[in-house]
Amino acid sequence: MVSDDELFERRRRQMVREQLEDRDIEDRDVLDALGIVPREAFVPEDYRSMAYSDRPLPIGKGQTISQPYIVALMTQMAELDGDDRVLEIGTGSGYGVAVASRIADEVYTLERHPELAESARASLEEVGYDNVEVILGDGTKGLPDRAPFDAIIATASGPDVPDSLKEQLAVGGRLVMPVGGKTGGQRLVGVRRIDEASYDEEDMGFVRFVPLIGEEGWSEGEAT
Ligand code: SAH
Repeated sequence: MVSDDELFERRRRQMVREQLEDRDIEDRDVLDALGIVPREAFVPEDYRSMAYSDRPLPIGKGQTISQPYIVALMTQMAELDGDDRVLEIGTGSGYGVAVASRIADEVYTLERHPELAESARASLEEVGYDNVEVILGDGTKGLPDRAPFDAIIATASGPDVPDSLKEQLAVGGRLVMPVGGKTGGQRLVGVRRIDEASYDEEDMGFVRFVPLIGEEGWSEGEAT
């Protein structure tokens, strides 16, 4: 008999090969991190059998856990190092931040839905990742108390990159965020802080994310 853990591990290895390596994920740390984090611990019970499918899955509150490939792509764009301090906006299931925590040193993540923050904390505790802090709040303002960050990853889409987030990047730091309309898809944007006053921006293609709701994002009333 194959145990559930063994089965999930096989599927995880297959996911890394077919969904990541066979596409354009080359960063060894990113491939290793997605090969370690048990995604089944971050999806609702009813969806566990689909934990390694090539798609986002519902996690409640109208939100989703991102497709594994998108988590890998954003983490690769963030160019994380072992001594980095990282901020994620939009904890959701906690999966994305769990992946980042296997590469970086200290990871902070902000979530606006109390229920999601709570269940993400529970999942992170279950897997025993203790370099992650889940904080309840509006991520569009970032986390000024803990800035600067070597990388900021926003997993919800806004009309533009909030200035507060750019200002909280260390010089040389990277920010990754979906930017564009509220529905119908967005562009995945990578920002690099060149010096105190200048930033470089690159477009990494079409993506589809849930909206970032907050002071420097979309307003609550517009929420779907
Ligand atoms: N990284 C997540 C993806 C979550 S989807 C994962 O791996 O599962 C995006 C999340 O952003 C949702 O949970 C949503 O509630 C949250 N969100 C939207 N606007 C936010 C804001 N202003 N501050 C913090 N979280 C926000």
